[in-house]
Amino acid sequence: MSLKLSDPVTVLKGVGPNLTEKLGRLHIWSIRDLLFHLPLRYQDRTRLSEIGALVPRVEVVVEGIVDVAQVLLGRRRSLVVRLSDGTGAIILRFFHFNRAQQHRFARGRTIRCYGEVRRGAQSLEMIHPECLTIDSNEPLALEDRLTPIYPATEGLQQARLRKLMDQCVTLLDSGEGAAIQDFIPPSIRDSLNLPSLEFALAYLHRPPSNAPVGELLSGTHVTQRRLAFEELLAHQLSLKRMRQRVQAHAAPRLKLAKNLRDQFLVQLGFELTNAQSRVIKEIDSDLSKAIPMLRLLQGDVGSGKTAVAAAVSLNAIAAGYQVTIMAPTELLADQHRRNFEAWFETLDIPVMMLTGRLTQKLRKSIMAQISDGQPSLIVGTHALFQDGVNYPKLGLVIVDEQHRFGVHQRLALWDKGAAGKLRPHQLIMTATPIPRTLAMTAYADLDVSILDELPPNRKPVRTVVIADTRRDEIAQRIALACTSGRQAYWVCPLIDESDLLDAQAATDTLNYLTTALPNIRIGLIHGRLSEKDKAHVMSTFAARELDLLVATTVIEVGVDVPNASLMVIDNAERLGLSQLHQLRGRVGRGTTSADCLLLYKTPLSETAKLRLQVMRDSTDGFVIAERDLQLRGPGEVLGTRQTGESEYRMADLSRDHALLPLVQQTANDLLESNPDIVERIIERWVTSRIEYVNV
Ligand code: ADP
Ligand code: MG
Repeated sequence: MSLKLSDPVTVLKGVGPNLTEKLGRLHIWSIRDLLFHLPLRYQDRTRLSEIGALVPRVEVVVEGIVDVAQVLLGRRRSLVVRLSDGTGAIILRFFHFNRAQQHRFARGRTIRCYGEVRRGAQSLEMIHPECLTIDSNEPLALEDRLTPIYPATEGLQQARLRKLMDQCVTLLDSGEGAAIQDFIPPSIRDSLNLPSLEFALAYLHRPPSNAPVGELLSGTHVTQRRLAFEELLAHQLSLKRMRQRVQAHAAPRLKLAKNLRDQFLVQLGFELTNAQSRVIKEIDSDLSKAIPMLRLLQGDVGSGKTAVAAAVSLNAIAAGYQVTIMAPTELLADQHRRNFEAWFETLDIPVMMLTGRLTQKLRKSIMAQISDGQPSLIVGTHALFQDGVNYPKLGLVIVDEQHRFGVHQRLALWDKGAAGKLRPHQLIMTATPIPRTLAMTAYADLDVSILDELPPNRKPVRTVVIADTRRDEIAQRIALACTSGRQAYWVCPLIDESDLLDAQAATDTLNYLTTALPNIRIGLIHGRLSEKDKAHVMSTFAARELDLLVATTVIEVGVDVPNASLMVIDNAERLGLSQLHQLRGRVGRGTTSADCLLLYKTPLSETAKLRLQVMRDSTDGFVIAERDLQLRGPGEVLGTRQTGESEYRMADLSRDHALLPLVQQTANDLLESNPDIVERIIERWVTSRIEYVNV
């Protein structure tokens, strides 16, 4: 039988309609797709570990004799088995089991198991390990090579995928693999000592028995680097190509309108920082050109990005154009509306807001005004770019807090803003500082301006880290501060992916605090409230009619109440550094000094402890971002909200960032010399993922 790369998966043995459908869910249709479906990680089942030498959080094979097995009836019925091998004992714990499984663990039996070691109440444990009963007369061999673990989907077993891969890898060995074109120029491959693509694929699917286990497990093997390089290159190329496409269009020239700008600055009520003035100049210069601006404004929380946005909006408005500012939440849109109304009222510039929560009638009327094309500033959420909204004269699109929007959303938005032949300029604002190397990949399509200075008189937020056993004492301290005129947030972070449970946690905290602090005015805000209620609570808090606001992480982004100077973050150990930094940025915005109390539940893992120390020791977003990158070792679970990495199949930025300078250079070379290859690399690594995101 001779297989070809382009053959559909159905030519493989054992692939019927059912399996074809499941593979399709993973975007696997051809043999080529299968070969590029790479292991997420490996399991090492090649050796037995001594139970006495185990440490938590590693996955191992152990073998031992059952000492005791019993069913415990506590809160949750469980089968508990103690297994020992002469060096020590470990508990195996099962929550789902039937009688047959129970009988398998008869005292004296020899059992081999594979699973993750965890720290239990009394001793080390494995929860639901895979188990084999061993007949002591017939020793069972261990695996002779690492076991690849593939991204899978419901109903598709790893073993099944491995069998399919075996068939494909044979194909590579047969020489047909040469048809997989290697896009990395040989000179680059040589300089990095990278193997050929064909070799790398075969190796990763079927690591030979003498493969360096540690390297493969940590993702640093040269074959993994080979593919990571290509994937990073593909992403870089896709962003750069997007930029080229955008900038092939023309944009309106929006010159600085000096009078209007001066009037604005006079009534602003504060002097711009040097950084703000510099950044405004950079943007002015872009706007005055006939090419669409693609600029990222990075500025730490509280650095004053909104004032910059307002200042540069004037260029467009004075030239007769519309400006939109898109915020990720209604809460923020509303806040922007208030700011801009205050700033633009005396300048006679109309400010409108378009969000999802408007009544049908109001919505219609605002849409009608927008389609008039009069110069104005339009604040809103995603609703700004829904069907039916037309901007006849859109000159500038500003996207605030960009980490909530993907690149593709941004482009879609930009396309909608097309007015005739002209395309609007784009300013993206983010408070998520990312280390320089990472910025090169994540923002390869954007020019970057940095606000590296906070407005004067800001006092850095003092941060302390406290065990939450001292909660009562802390509540009393908050009460004391509130009676002396300070306002505070009490944040209950994400407990779960579900709004409902988060809301519940916040409500529980509210109840606790209401009882503990009868004289304090306490409000509650969480994702389950309607947009209207959220906005109401925020404006009540901003008007100082509440002293303390119990909140979930809905307040993470952008909320600006300068008088709030105290923040308690519950379960701080659960949050990633960048999220903690965002949250903490809600205080310290006024002129009084501010405090942040990070409460944690004991026991605290080593990494969690380090993370909280970083927060205590630094308030600089860039420093925090760098430390975050270093601390996220493999195996450390990332908060689901900050997995920028998840868009990669093979690369891991915290591991592979050293490749980035060369990736960037290679991307530039290829764009220049080899546009055909560019398309194909992008297609191989990025295109199918985009479809996936859009579904
Ligand atoms: P961010 O960059 O996090 O979006 P904001 O634009 O919300 O920050 O600004 C934070 C606060 O600082 C706001 O209350 C804003 O009015 C104020 N502010 C901005 N620029 C200055 C400045 N140059 N001097 C004093 N206060 C400023
Ligand atoms: Mg902001």
